[in-house]
Amino acid sequence: MSNIKSPGFTCWLTGLSGAGKSTLAVEIVRALEHLSVPCEYLDGDIIRTNLSKGLGFSCEDRKTNIARVGFVSGLLNKHGINTVVALISPYRDAREQLRLNLPNFIEVYVDAPLEVCMERDVKGLYKKAIAGEIPEFTGISSLYEPPLNPDLILKTHKETIAECVEKVLRHLFYRGFITQASMAMATVIKLC
Ligand code: ADP
Repeated sequence: MSNIKSPGFTCWLTGLSGAGKSTLAVEIVRALEHLSVPCEYLDGDIIRTNLSKGLGFSCEDRKTNIARVGFVSGLLNKHGINTVVALISPYRDAREQLRLNLPNFIEVYVDAPLEVCMERDVKGLYKKAIAGEIPEFTGISSLYEPPLNPDLILKTHKETIAECVEKVLRHLFYRGFITQASMAMATVIKLC
């Protein structure tokens, strides 16, 4: 079994819209699955269509959303299922609460400057937010508090997707969640 620690970990990707959270989460999960590390992907956009359906983007609703995702993640971790979460999660205190509640919380700051995210504008949301069509949009009309002491920083405007995934895998190895054999395998099959 590749997963050598129990309970599992929560690899929590926080950052602005367009910073690269979902892109990286998918690749991290793909790599972990290749290594037979049990893993579930919790995507912020998908969560908002079911578990958090009906919640808006006020500070209170966002904190409720973060807490709910954290709760589900904790349940999975308890049973040895690792999670990769992609959620803007803009508030420092809400993320600190996760660190207190989750046994193995790994805060990953997906750090791309606002200008880069606006340039990417993957879903055209920045354009709409600037035009005033989307209220409470993070980075434009709603606060984003960058982590002060994250476990890992991924600068997606400077590092490639493969480099970012490698950094995550190395961190998981360093924390004892991936075996040396798995790390070697990841290198051989070019997961990183
Ligand atoms: P988020 O989930 O944070 O809103 P997305 O993953 O949806 O962001 O979009 C990020 C965009 O940036 C994608 O189009 C992706 O291909 C691009 N991108 C460029 N370089 C990177 C990188 N190193 N890591 C992640 N995404 C990157």
